[in-house]
Amino acid sequence: TARPLKDPSLLETRAYVNGEWIATEKTFAVHDPATGACIAHVADLGAAEAAAAIDAAHAAQPAWEEWTGKERATVLRKWFDLMIENADDLASILCAEMGKPWAESRGEILYGASFIEWFAEEAKRIYGDVIPGHQRDKRIVVLKQPVGVVGSITPWNFPNAMIARKVAPALAAGCSFVARPAELTPLSALAMAVLAERAGVPAGIFNVIPGSDAAGVGQELCTNPKVSKITFTGSTRVGQILMQQCAPTIKKMSLELGGNAPFIVFDDADLDAAVEGAMIAKYRNNGQTCVCANRIYVQAGVYDAFAEKLKAKVGTLKLGNGFDEGVTTGPLISEAALAKVERHIADAVEKGAEVIEGGQRSNLGGTYFRPTVLIGAKPGMQVAKEETFGPLAPLFKFEDEAEVIAMANDSDFGLASYFYSRDMARVWRVAEKLESGMVGINTGLISTEVAPFGGIKQSGLGREGSKYGIEDYLEIKYLCLGEI
Ligand code: ADP
Repeated sequence: TARPLKDPSLLETRAYVNGEWIATEKTFAVHDPATGACIAHVADLGAAEAAAAIDAAHAAQPAWEEWTGKERATVLRKWFDLMIENADDLASILCAEMGKPWAESRGEILYGASFIEWFAEEAKRIYGDVIPGHQRDKRIVVLKQPVGVVGSITPWNFPNAMIARKVAPALAAGCSFVARPAELTPLSALAMAVLAERAGVPAGIFNVIPGSDAAGVGQELCTNPKVSKITFTGSTRVGQILMQQCAPTIKKMSLELGGNAPFIVFDDADLDAAVEGAMIAKYRNNGQTCVCANRIYVQAGVYDAFAEKLKAKVGTLKLGNGFDEGVTTGPLISEAALAKVERHIADAVEKGAEVIEGGQRSNLGGTYFRPTVLIGAKPGMQVAKEETFGPLAPLFKFEDEAEVIAMANDSDFGLASYFYSRDMARVWRVAEKLESGMVGINTGLISTEVAPFGGIKQSGLGREGSKYGIEDYLEIKYLCLGEI
């Protein structure tokens, strides 16, 4: 069912370091989660090879920093154009290694590319400041300079976009970059490198080091003194490990960690719109995004109606191989991911919840799981505390605004939250009180390159995208000029 690539050279299995394609004796297998089939054997780089890539990035960076913003912008813009031209092939590679439906895979390619376009534009606008002096003979100037070498560690759920969101601002700022893609999905990262090379990104500026030794390479990136910054997307647990490893060398860090997003439906909401929003916020990418709605709170007056409407919509989702026509929902990434969904359902049912849709593995086998709706969810259940990262919507009932805000904020995480209401005063009140970096109001889709993506509490540090996103890759230097 897979689509043949128009340009088979995009399917690269070698590592890309210092402008060279490197095959290693040791390789690791990449599987298609839709079929379980092995689709590639990829170069397996360990800590020593990571150190070599860091050396290359460190040697190449000063010259890249010398380029004008416009010169860097031109190369990034070319890279963006190539990603758009090759979007179909990039989508096919992504669909094959990750399993999300082909159209959604293509959507991710466009989304990832949009960051490269955005930061190509921002490369020209890294402005400093002139501050009136504090003494008559003094002048104060503020420069913004690239942090240096950036080490990147990314997950499998967005094999292209998670890297694009990081590498684009880094390169725009004048940094060099060493990317360790998730071991489950290295092919999309390598395809990006093929196009970066064609776009004219100089040798050593963008390096991709696939490998099976996540901990070993992670430690090298975090402890190597030539790396100035770590940018990571993944679990809070691994984020904590990386932060500890970065402490001795005081590295700058951007962390996009776990979420546990509340999705609140007030009784004044447009219920059909709220159901549409919940479908996107919950079931997009089969529930495998860090901003997925994890806890759905519905006000008592509309609870039953919402549950019925959601159940009906969820029943229309079509599970299957992402390459097949009409499929809306692919397999889960792994057996472990599926087991977690099953655990959350079993725990909730044991504590009194009821499955009204799905609740079981699909008869397609493998890691296909039927999109699920639960009613009667309660705060003591695992689904209330932990991110499910799968197609499970637990519906909690609430009575009033204060109660639901307290429940929504009763979490160590604070990435995204969502709510539906048509009352203007309530919209402001609730938006101000929710403890999260992002709030979707009457919408279930908040991700865009023009806005700052990021979390508070244990959901992370820093922001990706928007005019704020480039700041994470810049240092401020203040010049004090005397004797004027
Ligand atoms: P997820 O559940 O999304 O896979 P993880 O935090 O486990 O989240 O993984 C995110 C990325 O971090 C993956 O590329 C994984 O290989 C990598 N990773 C896992 N453990 C470590 C570690 N100890 N050090 C560095 N990277 C790690």
